[in-house]
Amino acid sequence: ISQRQIQNQVIDNLYVFQGNGLPAHYMSIIRLPYDGWSFVYMLPASELDTKIRAIMTMFGFLTIGTLVILTILLVYYEYTVETNRKKMYNLAYYDEFTGLPNRVNLRNNYKEVYESTYHDHIDKYYFATVIISNFHMLHNLYGTEISNRFELKLASSMKQMESRLFTPYKGNNSYYAIIKADNRGEVEIALRKLFASAQSIDNIEYRSLFKAGVCSFTSSSMPHNIDDIMDKCSIALYDHKDENVNRNSIVFFVPAMQEEIIRQNNLEKELIPAIYNGEFLVYLQPKYDLNSNRLSGAEALIRWNYKLQRLLPPGQFIPVFEKNGSIAHIDNFIFVSILDLLKRWKEQGYRLVPISVNFSQVQFRNPNLLRDLKHRIRGYEDIIRYIDIEITESATIDSQETVLEILNELKEIGFKLSMDDFGTGYSCLSNISLYPFDTIKLDKSFVDKIDVNFKSSPDVMLVSDVIQITKHFGIHSLVEGVENLDQKNILRDLGCEYCQGYYYSAPLPVAEFERLLCEDKIFEDWR
Ligand code: C2E
Ligand code: MG
Ligand code: MG
Repeated sequence: ISQRQIQNQVIDNLYVFQGNGLPAHYMSIIRLPYDGWSFVYMLPASELDTKIRAIMTMFGFLTIGTLVILTILLVYYEYTVETNRKKMYNLAYYDEFTGLPNRVNLRNNYKEVYESTYHDHIDKYYFATVIISNFHMLHNLYGTEISNRFELKLASSMKQMESRLFTPYKGNNSYYAIIKADNRGEVEIALRKLFASAQSIDNIEYRSLFKAGVCSFTSSSMPHNIDDIMDKCSIALYDHKDENVNRNSIVFFVPAMQEEIIRQNNLEKELIPAIYNGEFLVYLQPKYDLNSNRLSGAEALIRWNYKLQRLLPPGQFIPVFEKNGSIAHIDNFIFVSILDLLKRWKEQGYRLVPISVNFSQVQFRNPNLLRDLKHRIRGYEDIIRYIDIEITESATIDSQETVLEILNELKEIGFKLSMDDFGTGYSCLSNISLYPFDTIKLDKSFVDKIDVNFKSSPDVMLVSDVIQITKHFGIHSLVEGVENLDQKNILRDLGCEYCQGYYYSAPLPVAEFERLLCEDKIFEDWR
């Protein structure tokens, strides 16, 4: 150690070297705060070496350990990120429940199909929207688990069919497929094959029914936007003219369907102005007593003298207004017109006969129905008993208790009540006794089924039974849609009391009905 180094007190640690240049000792000098005093200690270099090596080894292990842990963490992180990324991808592009590509996927793929075929005028593509048309029924019958299995069956059948010609997708409540085919026939074959393979599941007797709305697009006329195609498929799918309720159906979109929707939208806008413009007319269809052949009443039926140019039958606008709820305007118009008519007849001394007015089931959802009616009949109290309110049987299934309450109150006010279209759809014999109806109107379909030459046929027996039941409960029976003498005679023989139909008369303008009423002639049978 050099004197200078010690004097300058700058060296704290130093090696004492052997003559061969290797360190012999390690020396540390710690200066003490006492003037001139220091603490000095020496270690043999070999010992220090061992210690340093031990420390280095430990440090090495630590470093390696840390690196290993870091690597594991990194791998784990990458793995979870990747799995999440995959999950996110699946969630974004595949339907979670069925595993089929979803609408986002469809949108992207459609873009590809669109771009790849835009300049190629050969391929023909079809887009199909498929639903399980009896899904609600399956759900109500078997519950969620089984109805889900029906859905999964459809999805797996679609997956099985997946190919260059058939690409399946899943939307919210519907399934889609892009189908490459030369003509409609090929599309029908593909879809029927799908329906056949997806219709049943193990151990369940009932089968699912399918409905497909299909829109065709050639590569040269492909719209930019898939939404446009989907809209067209929906229009085809929910086209109300398609009445294949109990079997699989495939409906191809045609532009007339879109025109029909535009027509319906226009009708909605035209309703109120048409009422003020006097375009709505009341027609009266006479009802006859089957035994006496005498006029016994009439049913008020709406006619629309559209733009004062041509008569529209109710079938063309009633369903539209029922769908959007504005049917109440029609019903009110008829109701008020009949109040006025009966009042005038009374004032002019005519024979008063009951006139029935149709109340749509939409009206029963109006919580103010009774209040509004009571308001409307002020001043007409003496003719209320000549008004017969017809409601269809289906109105009673909506909310039985509310409808029952309303009907009871209508009876109390003094109205007569008829159950219209009995035998269509929801027929339930217990309804006859449950609700306070005065008359049951058997639907035309009963008459249509009657074979006049086979009086002991099951259909004739059925009509006979229904008539007997009405008698049992003291309710009148009327049959609608009687078109010939044979039908009329057989119904009379079965005990039916009243009848309405073209055999007696079609619906008439008010003036013509008034003439009939005043003449008060016994109807002469004809063949
Ligand atoms: P609905 O109440 O069952 O009326 C009977 C329908 O059967 C009437 O058709 C009548 O013209 C028709 N009809 C009567 N006899 C015969 C026959 O012998 N053969 C055939 N083929 N048909 C016959 P319309 O006038 O076309 O009315 C159809 C439906 O529209 C009515 O069925 C009723 O549900 C509805 N409707 C008519 N006017 C109104 C209304 O003011 N309000 C409501 N809510 N619905 C109405
Ligand atoms: Mg009716
Ligand atoms: Mg009817």
